[in-house]
Amino acid sequence: MTQAMLEDLVAGLPVPTDLHVGGRWVPADDGGRFAVIDPATGEEIAQVANGTVADAQRCVDAADAAAAGWAATSPRQRSEILRRAFDLMTERSEQIAELMVRENGKSLADARSEVTYAAEFFRWYAEEAVRVAGDVRTAPSGSNRIVVLRQPIGIALLITPWNFPAAMATRKIGPALAAGCTVILKPASETPLTALAIAQLLADAGVPDGVVNVLPSRRSGAVAETVLHDPRVRKLSFTGSTEVGRTLLKVAADQVISCSMELGGNAPLVVLDDADLDVAVEGAMVAKMRNGGEACTAANRMYVHRSVADEFTRRLAERMAAVDTGPGMSGATLGPLVNQAAVEKVHSLVEDAAGRGATVLTGGRPADGPGYFYPATVLAGVPADAEILDEEIFGPVAPVVVFDTDEEAVRLANATEYGLVAYVFSSDLARAMRTAEALECGMVGINRGVVSDPAAPFGGTKQSGIGREGGHEGLLEYTESKYVAVDW
Ligand code: NAP
Repeated sequence: MTQAMLEDLVAGLPVPTDLHVGGRWVPADDGGRFAVIDPATGEEIAQVANGTVADAQRCVDAADAAAAGWAATSPRQRSEILRRAFDLMTERSEQIAELMVRENGKSLADARSEVTYAAEFFRWYAEEAVRVAGDVRTAPSGSNRIVVLRQPIGIALLITPWNFPAAMATRKIGPALAAGCTVILKPASETPLTALAIAQLLADAGVPDGVVNVLPSRRSGAVAETVLHDPRVRKLSFTGSTEVGRTLLKVAADQVISCSMELGGNAPLVVLDDADLDVAVEGAMVAKMRNGGEACTAANRMYVHRSVADEFTRRLAERMAAVDTGPGMSGATLGPLVNQAAVEKVHSLVEDAAGRGATVLTGGRPADGPGYFYPATVLAGVPADAEILDEEIFGPVAPVVVFDTDEEAVRLANATEYGLVAYVFSSDLARAMRTAEALECGMVGINRGVVSDPAAPFGGTKQSGIGREGGHEGLLEYTESKYVAVDW
């Protein structure tokens, strides 16, 4: 399977498999390709061009050639192109959702909601593109004016993970294009096809050649270094693990590149003693099971007040036991994990917790192949030293821990190097807000299990990241302010 365009993978959507450089589909410099696997079967579904260091250089050249022209387009032009991208993504939503099911494994319902979420970043930034304000102040001495302009920061390298192949790309491309930047997108090697389909969609929406270049590559370290060591590149926006984020921050330091980092999470979900348990169990299901648990925002640790712990855990285990697991296209709620290594990692965390005394209430064993399936699992009585409370699970496993006071819950929730998101359930809004203020993280959901919204500033504190995506803040990450002292 080496054709550049797959016509039959998803009905009605020709899927490109080459690199997208300067508006053209081109094979890798050395002709190399790599396999994309369907996690539901373990079978190869496509061969994609494997970008080289020379291809990375070609991408920077293409982004540079397009940069001045794109920065000079009017905000209204950029806005209308992004709006067309929203319309096209909405039109192609079923096919893009199916493509994500094929390469990522997620359930069709999760894939559909991701496409909607992903398209919204094009719409939101179509609206923001025309609202990039500077400001004018008077110097305290009264001698001159201080004029502050917002200009496009320059060429941006965008690196995305496999768990949300569409939304993580549009959450970066939308604001970058709105601000007037040209980009090089390096998608995760597990899920390059969605990124390539989005590149085609953007070309169809009227994005000029070279503004969006897409570079699938299994040589992620080498191609990222090549791009980040080119002095023409001024921005890195990375979503992925904290470990790779740390490496990239060091590489970006060589050219003092502006970095926006969306890294790993270890979200606590806190159920206070006055919580409405219907709301808390529903919220916990969403916070845990959205995207099969493969989300940076997934509830990783459930802290439940002793007085409601038995009831909450019983109801949660009942709901989790009823989750049907199967291939994403079958209508099952829970698809496979992304690969065999993910199954092994999740299972080793479950075994470690059980070995230290946790009780497995449901699930707890990988399914037999084919495919990389792991069932919805609930662990009760998880001891404080279990690895599962320290590490990102990235799977459908809910560890429950009991606490006695609000202060203890906050202390346990904050005992992590991560600080992305937390969830609080309480019927007393003032108490929930006090708890939210005490939690060390960038986002808090109160009485709900999902916080993601294109209009909101998404991002983490501590080792979960630097900067924000979404909202107006997301656009500012792709601008540089320039202060002009004027004496008029
Ligand atoms: P990952 O292993 O860090 O990979 C992310 C991306 O970085 C992929 O494109 C990967 O390419 C690339 N990469 C890997 N090593 C690299 C290197 N040395 N230099 C440059 N690029 C490199 O993460 P993942 O497993 O794909 O995604 C899961 C992680 O993403 C989790 O930790 C999750 O919490 C985090 N995440 C965070 C957010 C957020 O908004 N905070 C959102 C979603 C996911 P290859 O695939 O080719 O290796």
